[in-house]
Amino acid sequence: MEYTSGNVSINTENIFPIIKKWLYSEKDIFIREIVSNACDAISKLKKLISVGEADIDSTGWKIEVVLDKEAGTITIKDNGIGMTEEEIVKYINQIAFSGAKDFIEKYEGKTDDSQIIGHFGLGFYSVFMVSDNVQIDTLSWVPGAEAVHWESDTGMDFAISPSDKTDRGTEITLHIAEDSVEFLDSFKLRETLMKYFSFLPVELFFTEIKDEEETEEKETEEKEDAKEEPKPINNTTPLWMKPVKDCTEEEYKAFYHEVFRDFNDPLFWIHLNIDYPFNLKGILYFPKLKDQYDIMEGTIKVYYNQVFVADNIKEIIPEFLMLLRGVIDCPDLPLNVSRSFLQNDGYVNKISTHITKKVADKLTGMFNTEREEYNKCWEDINPFVKYGCLKDEKFYDKVKDVVMFKTTDDRFLTISDLTAIKDGENTEENKPVEKSVYYVDDEVAQAQYVNMLKDAGLDIVIMTGPIDSHFINYIEYKNSGKLKFVRVDSDITDTMKDSSNEMSQEDREKVIADITPSFAKVSGNDKIKIGVEAMKSPLPAIILVSEQSRRMQEMMKMYGGNMNMGADDITVTLNSSNTTVKTLVKLIENKEDNCEKIDFLAAHIYDLALLAHKPMDAGAMSAFMERSAKLLDEFACKE
Ligand code: ADP
Repeated sequence: MEYTSGNVSINTENIFPIIKKWLYSEKDIFIREIVSNACDAISKLKKLISVGEADIDSTGWKIEVVLDKEAGTITIKDNGIGMTEEEIVKYINQIAFSGAKDFIEKYEGKTDDSQIIGHFGLGFYSVFMVSDNVQIDTLSWVPGAEAVHWESDTGMDFAISPSDKTDRGTEITLHIAEDSVEFLDSFKLRETLMKYFSFLPVELFFTEIKDEEETEEKETEEKEDAKEEPKPINNTTPLWMKPVKDCTEEEYKAFYHEVFRDFNDPLFWIHLNIDYPFNLKGILYFPKLKDQYDIMEGTIKVYYNQVFVADNIKEIIPEFLMLLRGVIDCPDLPLNVSRSFLQNDGYVNKISTHITKKVADKLTGMFNTEREEYNKCWEDINPFVKYGCLKDEKFYDKVKDVVMFKTTDDRFLTISDLTAIKDGENTEENKPVEKSVYYVDDEVAQAQYVNMLKDAGLDIVIMTGPIDSHFINYIEYKNSGKLKFVRVDSDITDTMKDSSNEMSQEDREKVIADITPSFAKVSGNDKIKIGVEAMKSPLPAIILVSEQSRRMQEMMKMYGGNMNMGADDITVTLNSSNTTVKTLVKLIENKEDNCEKIDFLAAHIYDLALLAHKPMDAGAMSAFMERSAKLLDEFACKE
């Protein structure tokens, strides 16, 4: 073999600044490129063996990464296909370098790093960003091949000579440059290897060559602990690669704990195994949430043939799925292309549609066959399902029958339960009834109303989560004409009315006219709205808030609109069946004589209603306490 040297026709003035820029944001990609190449070299040889082209024992495959801090080198060694001299010239001098050139031409001027997924495609050339000398020693598998040594300092000039390598495969030695010495840190290097290659399909070993003193220390330790066989740092058969039927519940849980470092068990999971119309494997986990705000922390790890690419690539995975935790391996994905390309790629769309369908299938399956379990999980998964519905109409269409509404008495109702026409309900012919669905959004503040509705035998659904107000609007929109959500404090239903004491419209108007000025006075609001209704409740009055105007106000607030829309659109509704109210009405007939008492009663009735509605301010509260104390005194005096 002759000594050769040459010049690779590459214009480094253009390349280095651009590649360096990426390396500053993700400096460790060189290690991914080199170890991925080593893994490919092994796959290629395995392939040749399997088709009968190479007659070699197909065992003992391994990749070794050796750190020699003192020498300042990192060596990556594989026992794969190797390269002949001719191949080195072709693959390294021509392909690798022109690959780097292509890469630069494509992405030059694109300042947004995120335009290139995982920065694949830079290949072998990326080693020059961290090394000031790179050496390749390689021996091809081809019988009779000669080992070759290749060397380059800058990535521009190279020299080829014979090598004394005697075992098959490739060994690449990087002399790490001064500005990249952090990679000579054993902890950092191991961490980088773990990040990308925890699930590499070939065993990966990491060793650090220690200096003499350290080695001596280590040897004494080892004598005590009996020498151990070196262990690979990776798991070559991650669970997602295993056939679904062979995976146990324990394995799914253990895998989850390992990958996501969450000690809690996941609620359930979906094992994805798609081979048509594309290849995709993975596992999606539904995590147990600490609270409803926890949902923002999901992670979907994307792999490419068991090599980690990146977390949460939003172009591949439907946004709402990123609330879950999972691993997805897409060997068909063109990962070395720009993100804008992926967005327009029909193939990527299909992945997203497929995954969405699988998730919907899992949910409906559980609903149909494990209803109890499904109900139990609902509290944890509801933010996810709701968010999914809001983000993706197709997802809603698939899961709408299994969307649940939890009631205040711990039952779980579906949309069809909520819209079902009950016996005895009037239905006008050919006209579907729009059902009112009562809900609480603050269980403590609205407890009094809940009790009243419960007494009237109504279902009340709990909608207290951060996305529930949006979800309510969405469900109404999707089921328009069939149901309408009304907060518990917005209306009195027929069932709450005391029909035996119903008032005539005329009487009602008279009472309202007579009584309103007193309430205007005690509330300090001369626009106060008063209603009168005979109710079964023991309370003298309740405050009702118009659902529509409340929602309008909330929306305005949300969009930062006019906050001073005036007071809430509320009505103080007096209970004409209540003794105190009856007395008040009588007293008002003789206003002049009873001034003080009227004010006292009106103020106290008003405060009671207010108290059941929202927390009082300090002034109102102390007035209420004083009045209450007085009432108590009077009550005590009677004895
Ligand atoms: P890519 O891997 O995308 O083809 P690279 O620049 O990383 O581009 O590598 C160029 C080529 O060099 C590879 O396609 C392969 O043929 C060859 N090569 C690189 N590393 C090895 C290796 N460890 N063993 C055998 N061949 C290798």
